[in-house]
Amino acid sequence: MIYPDFYEKFECKADMCFHTCCRGWEIDIDDDTAEFYRSLEGKIGDKLRIAANLEPEDGSQPHFILKNEKCPFLLESGLCEMILEEGEDILCDICSLHPRFFGQYQNIDYAGVGLSCEKSCELLLETDEPITFVGDEVKEFNRVFSTASLTYTPEFSEVDVEELIEIFSETEPIDENWTLHIEELQGKIGEITDKIEKYTLEYNAKLYNRIYSYILYRQLERCEEYSWEVLCDYAAICTDFVFMEDALMRDTKEALRRFSEQIEYCPENVSFLMEL
Ligand code: SF4
Repeated sequence: MIYPDFYEKFECKADMCFHTCCRGWEIDIDDDTAEFYRSLEGKIGDKLRIAANLEPEDGSQPHFILKNEKCPFLLESGLCEMILEEGEDILCDICSLHPRFFGQYQNIDYAGVGLSCEKSCELLLETDEPITFVGDEVKEFNRVFSTASLTYTPEFSEVDVEELIEIFSETEPIDENWTLHIEELQGKIGEITDKIEKYTLEYNAKLYNRIYSYILYRQLERCEEYSWEVLCDYAAICTDFVFMEDALMRDTKEALRRFSEQIEYCPENVSFLMEL
């Protein structure tokens, strides 16, 4: 398995996380864990059989029933009631693996931590050096995927900004706020272009090469479906969007996290951007 050097430093921020992943998503429970939950005794077992749908009648995957958009086991403190009561081993696959992702590129297995998670963004952004990779087949991997040679250059005219926002407005929205935000962007193209122009003189180019490389890295498994040029174009348009948001907010971490949530966790949105 190949993974970026910061992968092993990942540790969930738990109650210190502002954008907890226990809110806003429907969390599926894998079959083995659902079987275990059905027979689990005690307080958590009793609550699970009410707070999770372990026998969906429509044939869908068992899942937690969100309450006010939140996992029913997410406490006010920001901690997980299940972990506090029973320890981490009680978690289903998604809860124990998130935000890790896995793929295969040229017969090499690779992994990373997804950027919808604010801790993953912090790890990616903690240095502006090219990403290095770790793993048994790292020499072979570096031969086919060298981040040192991957560069991102922001180039935007007012028309480009308009087109970029138009393209992202056609992606499947993750939530209502995304749609509202896009509408807001569409109303201030001139202002955005000015801010981008200013930011282009100040931004950290090395850091943006790192962002571009990592967005591309996540999609390497699609190399059998799409050409290398398509993968690079996809990474470039996504980095353009992050750059634009960053130019507006001056918050690279949040620009990256929100982009990832909207695009990288929706395979249809990734395909849409690759097929432009
Ligand atoms: S988003 Fe990341 S840091 Fe936050 S709760 Fe989830 S895994 Fe932990």
